[in-house]
Amino acid sequence: MRLRNIPGAKEEMLVNPFVVQEPETKKGLWKQEVFGNDRPLHVEIGCGKGRFLSEMAEKNPGVNYLGIEKFSSVLLRALEKRAAMDADNLYYLRFDAEGLTEIFGDREVDRIYLNFSDPWPKARHWKRRLTSTEFLKRYDKVLAPGGTIEFKTDNEGLFDFSLESAREAGWQVLVMTRDLYHSPYAEGNVLTEYEDRFATLGKPIFKMIITR
Ligand code: SAM
Repeated sequence: MRLRNIPGAKEEMLVNPFVVQEPETKKGLWKQEVFGNDRPLHVEIGCGKGRFLSEMAEKNPGVNYLGIEKFSSVLLRALEKRAAMDADNLYYLRFDAEGLTEIFGDREVDRIYLNFSDPWPKARHWKRRLTSTEFLKRYDKVLAPGGTIEFKTDNEGLFDFSLESAREAGWQVLVMTRDLYHSPYAEGNVLTEYEDRFATLGKPIFKMIITR
């Protein structure tokens, strides 16, 4: 998702109270220093405009949520939603997830959500896909024992690639469906911005949950 460059978006990232600054200094300290508690930390990578996390944070006050998004102009929309919320368990970060191990300590994250990640269809770009074995190595380092990755997409090619990556990297598939809404996992599903569009078109949604 790449919006037009919105004037002032970059500057807003530096002053917004819900954007974490200097994330490298929080390594190993997210729960205590950012959230002020010891609750589980769930991270969405590529959170886009924040619809999923806004709803998750409201539904689950006992969980700490962090949304990571590469582009300021996109994150700005999530921050507008955040400002209207009465919650203390949701923060955001303008950051490229390639640097994940620079900002999280070993085993610091309890769950990672990847929702409708960019497919990067050209074969030579496979390392950029958020479910590539390169990214799985990073997740392996920062995820707690028993921690999970929950991945949803409308893109069958990306889904097959992701299953293959997970198996190649030795992850265990706990949940797998090629039609989420007609599966036992539909209950309690929280929609993302992208998902809403695809669901309206009647496209099947693919989902997997993996652990190692
Ligand atoms: N998760 C949202 C949804 O389902 O509505 C947004 C999906 S959009 C297709 C993918 C988002 O991931 C984009 O906003 C993009 O900027 C972000 N993204 C892609 N690669 C990223 C990376 N390496 N680090 C952080 N964000 C990334």
